[in-house]
Amino acid sequence: MRIACPYCGPRGLEEFLYTQDASVTRPGAGATGQDWVDYVYIRENTKAPRKEFWYHSAGCHAWLILTRDVVTHEIMAVDLP
Ligand SMILES: [Zn+2]
Repeated sequence: MRIACPYCGPRGLEEFLYTQDASVTRPGAGATGQDWVDYVYIRENTKAPRKEFWYHSAGCHAWLILTRDVVTHEIMAVDLP
């Protein structure tokens, strides 16, 4: 898998770290304990494309949001947060 970093160009997967699902939003003030449990532990496991945070750890150290098909690993978009 190759990821097109907006700053460095296409690079191999070994230069990047997957960090987390980018579609999850942090609970606001007044959130319940269950809201925090859902935020930290509960994820959808669908076969649809999803947004993910990736970090270019062996390159420019940029944080990226990839839109990736988790079945085919096709990368549809690479955006900056
Ligand atoms: Zn980079």
